[in-house]
Amino acid sequence: NGVMTFDDTISAVATAIGEGGIGIVRLSGNRAIDIADQIFRGSTGKKKIADIPSFQAAYGSIADPDSGEAIDEAIVIVMRAPRSYTREDVVEVQCHGGPVPLQRILDITLRLGARLAEPGEYTKRAFLNGRLDLAQAEAVIDVIRSKTDASLKAAVSNLSGRLSDKIRSLRQEILTMIAHLEAAIDFPEDDIEEITAGNVSGSITIVRVELDRLLASAQTGRILREGLATVIIGRPNVGKSSLLNALLREKRAIVTDIPGTTRDIIEEYVNIRGIPLKIVDTAGIRETADIVEKIGVDKAREFVAKADLVLLILDSSAPLTPEDRTVLSLLPGREAIILVNKSDLPPVLDMDEVKSFVGDRPVLKISVLTGAGVDELEQTIADRVYSGQVTSGEAAFVNNVRHMNQIRQAGRHLGDALATIDAGMPLDCIAVDLKAAWEKLGEITGDTVGEDIIDQIFSQFCLGK
Ligand code: GDP
Ligand code: ZN
Repeated sequence: NGVMTFDDTISAVATAIGEGGIGIVRLSGNRAIDIADQIFRGSTGKKKIADIPSFQAAYGSIADPDSGEAIDEAIVIVMRAPRSYTREDVVEVQCHGGPVPLQRILDITLRLGARLAEPGEYTKRAFLNGRLDLAQAEAVIDVIRSKTDASLKAAVSNLSGRLSDKIRSLRQEILTMIAHLEAAIDFPEDDIEEITAGNVSGSITIVRVELDRLLASAQTGRILREGLATVIIGRPNVGKSSLLNALLREKRAIVTDIPGTTRDIIEEYVNIRGIPLKIVDTAGIRETADIVEKIGVDKAREFVAKADLVLLILDSSAPLTPEDRTVLSLLPGREAIILVNKSDLPPVLDMDEVKSFVGDRPVLKISVLTGAGVDELEQTIADRVYSGQVTSGEAAFVNNVRHMNQIRQAGRHLGDALATIDAGMPLDCIAVDLKAAWEKLGEITGDTVGEDIIDQIFSQFCLGK
């Protein structure tokens, strides 16, 4: 059903570059089996790829068909169309995971007529062949890039089609409204028009509530996907480095360098109750003094402005200093948690004065030295991120800016439809707005979407996926 046929057979190394226990070269397309047959010699039982049943592993070796030179031992798995990732014939060649054997095997498949796959091309074929819808295909990247259990859960839930199902049922409701409008247009008696407009208006309101609910999940979804951009600020010696080091020691998720930016900004991911905190280590708060001192107040203000969350640290064992006040002056308009550190020492800091600066932001007493208050810090962060939403992964999280935009635009068209109804305009004008909303939502699942958008989405994938 709906399998498109692509002329070319694609090939790529599907595993990460570098040394590993095993590596995989993956072929997909009409000639996958034929090409694999020319390089594989079965050691036991099934000698030819064509004789190996789908999903059964066969052991043997890979050799260059021209020179006869042996390249590596290998296990081959055949997945025949349409029961494969791409819905085409797929052959996976598992060999030793070194760059040289993988590259040699890849080169031979290319010489035998395969074409090097573009980034994301396997998943793109899976989409074009109808195995995944667009939102599910996008969830594949999210699964690969997830940073914590919670973000993985949200991505897997979307991969299984939870968001797509929700969107489809909303589209169906809009379609039903359009059908009612069209039926009424065919029987143009005044009272039918009015009753229909009234009914549709009620249905639109219900769908809008659902769209709003999805948008509300988007903030959480984005944070789970990209991480909660966090900066730690405070004057020198309050304990910034100690806090960051403690979090990294116990909660480090993954380390990344941001490609294309200067080396003095490093992002570290810390896993707080499943939330990836992306801590921007500006010019090494870890080693040296503080962000404000090192990069200046203006630059610090810039970082603070970009952050989802500011952790502002004060020292409870000393009075508030002019530098503390400078740091506190960065707070207005920002989401922040105030940490009064060194609570293991005799308290000196005037808490009333602190409270006069921080408004209703949470103020927590902690001691990085003893670990006191760190649990409470984690809970406070989790509460802020989920703000009462379900955390179980049951919800369809919108975690993608593209989807957010389409939902927002669909909501706007529905708002237009309501205004059209209120203005007492003809029914076919309402139908136009509804149709526009229906199309916008279809762009999420890929039911109504242009080729340029599809290309742009799949170009973000890694090679071999
Ligand atoms: P930064 O300049 O803000 O990065 O501060 P540091 O993390 O370098 O800490 C400055 C000093 O305070 C170090 O000697 C730390 O050991 C000490 N310190 C940090 N946290 C605590 C704490 O909770 N209690 C006590 N007593 N000392 C702390
Ligand atoms: Zn420091």
